[in-house]
Amino acid sequence: MTDSIHTLVIGGGQAGVATSAHLQKLGVPHLVLERDRIAERWRSWRWDSLVANGPAWHDRFPDAEFEGLDPDAFAGKEAVADYFARFASDRNLPIREGVEVTRLERQGDRFRATTSDGTIKAQSVVVATGPFQKPVIPTVITDPGITQIHSNGYRNPGALPQGAVLVVGAGSSGAQIAEELVRSGRRVYLSLGPHDRPPRRYRGKDFVWWLGKLGKWDMKAPTPGTEHVTIAVSGAYGGHTMDFRRLAGLGVTLLGRAGDYRDGVLQFADDLATNIANGDRNYLSVLDEADAYAAAQGLDLPEEPEARALLPLPDCVTSPTLALDLKAAGISTVIWATGFRLDFGWIDLDIFREDGRPRHQDGVTEVPGLYFVGLPWLSCRGSAFIWGAWKDAERLAGVIAARQGRTQAHS
Ligand SMILES: Cc1cc2nc3c(=O)[nH]c(=O)nc-3n(C[C@H](O)[C@H](O)[C@H](O)COP(=O)(O)OP(=O)(O)OC[C@H]3O[C@@H](n4cnc5c(N)ncnc54)[C@H](O)[C@@H]3O)c2cc1C
Repeated sequence: MTDSIHTLVIGGGQAGVATSAHLQKLGVPHLVLERDRIAERWRSWRWDSLVANGPAWHDRFPDAEFEGLDPDAFAGKEAVADYFARFASDRNLPIREGVEVTRLERQGDRFRATTSDGTIKAQSVVVATGPFQKPVIPTVITDPGITQIHSNGYRNPGALPQGAVLVVGAGSSGAQIAEELVRSGRRVYLSLGPHDRPPRRYRGKDFVWWLGKLGKWDMKAPTPGTEHVTIAVSGAYGGHTMDFRRLAGLGVTLLGRAGDYRDGVLQFADDLATNIANGDRNYLSVLDEADAYAAAQGLDLPEEPEARALLPLPDCVTSPTLALDLKAAGISTVIWATGFRLDFGWIDLDIFREDGRPRHQDGVTEVPGLYFVGLPWLSCRGSAFIWGAWKDAERLAGVIAARQGRTQAHS
C-alpha cells in the first residue's frame, strides 16, 4: 500500500463511495480503505428480506440508476449493496477492501493512519464509517433462557428459537421485523416509543417525493439532543404505511416503552396511547402539509380523503399491559431494535463532544483537513440517507479540492 496520499477516505459504504466519486471528478488523489467489502453493512448487518425504505428512483445516487429494477420498486438489500459495488467498479474508484484503520492521529501538518496493512499519511481525511456503528441494548435481561439479539443480528423468522418474540423499538427496523414475524405465524409483542409514521403514499405520490417537495429532507438539525425521532416506514410487501393499529389487527400485541426488568418481569411505561396518538398526529400533519402544498402549487393530484380514516384503537392500546412475565407469555426471544451509537475510539484527536459525536459544521471539523460524512443530521435530515450522503460528499469534496488548490499554491 502507498505510504502517502492526498486524501484518505475511511469506510467504503455509500458515503465513502460517494466521496470517492466526487473526489475523482475533481481530480483529487485519494484512497478509500474499507475493512470488509464495499457496502458491507447492507449485506451482513441487515435481515434477509430487507428492502430499501425508498423506491429505486429515489434511494440511489443521481449519477446511476438501478439496473433491471422498476423505478417504483424497492430494491432488496443485496441489490443495494451490489449497486454500490458496481458503481465503484464501473468508475474504477480507488477502494481497497479488507483494510481497517485502527488509529488516526495528527503528525505535524498531516494525518497518520495506522491500518491493518501498514501506516499511511494524508493531508486530508474523510471519516465515512457509518451513522450506525455499535448496537445499543438499553435494558439488561438476565434470564439465560431467553435469546437476545439486536436488530442487526436478526435474519429471518426461521432462524429464531420456537416461541413468542418480543420486539423492542418500533422505528422502521422494529416495525418491519414485527410484521415479518407475525406474518410468519409467530406470536409477537412490540414495544413502541415516540415515533413518526408518515404515509407511504398520498395522492399518488410516495412519501419520499412529498418529503422532497415539502423541504423536509433539507431540514437543518433542530437543537442538539432533540434531532432524533424514530421514523417508521416500510418498503416491504410493495410498500405500505406503517400503521400500528393494522399490525395489532394482524395479531401483534402493542406495548409502551420498555423499562426495568426484574424477576422475569419486564415493565412498560403507560405511554402507549400517547405514542400512538402522537404518531397519528405526525401522519395527519404530513397529509395536511401535502394538501396545502398541492393547493398552493395548483397540482392536479387525485384527492384521497379516505387516507384520513383511522382504524379503531385495539384493546392492547385501550387496556395496555404494563408488566409482562416473559416466560409466562411464552417469549423465547427478545429483539432489540433500539438503534445504534457511534464509536470513534480509534480517532486520537480532541474533536468529540461528551456524547461521542464529533464537533463539526456540516461535516467540516475544527482540525484542518478532517471531515465527516454520512452521519445523521450532518448538514440536514437527509445526510445519513443515500442521496443525502451524495450531496454532502459533493460539497465536502469541493472543500477538499479548494484546500488542495490553496496548499499547492503555497508550496
Ligand atoms: C436497517 C436499516 C435500513 C436502512 N435503509 C435505508 C434505506 O432504505 N435508504 C436509505 O437511504 N438509508 C437507509 N438506511 C440508512 C443508511 O443508508 C445506511 O445506514 C447506510 O449503510 C449508511 O451508509 P454509510 O456509508 O454512511 O455507512 P455504512 O454503510 O455503515 O458504511 C461504513 C463502512 O465503513 C467501514 N468501516 C468502519 N470502520 C472502519 C475502519 N476503522 N476502517 C475501515 N473501514 C471501516 C464499515 O465496514 C462499513 O462498510 C438504513 C439503515 C438501517 C440500519
